[in-house]
Amino acid sequence: MDNYLCQKCSTHIQSDKQPTSFNCPSGSTHKWTKLGKVGTLNYQCSKCATLVKAASQPTSFDCPDGGSHRWTKL
Ligand SMILES: [Zn+2]
Ligand SMILES: [Zn+2]
Repeated sequence: MDNYLCQKCSTHIQSDKQPTSFNCPSGSTHKWTKLGKVGTLNYQCSKCATLVKAASQPTSFDCPDGGSHRWTKL
């Protein structure tokens, strides 16, 4: 199971495969970024406020707030 985040609408989901891209609320299709494996550690981005349960520090690409995520381990 992996964490996915849409860079456009900030939707976060957990899925074992690439999520479908239809109907992004921000317009047209979602732009998913794979953040990494789901686990028991809580990480929050201080820029976009996304909270993910991860096995290790999530990928920092494509923060919806621009540039890279700034993950803090909670
Ligand atoms: Zn989206
Ligand atoms: Zn972020």
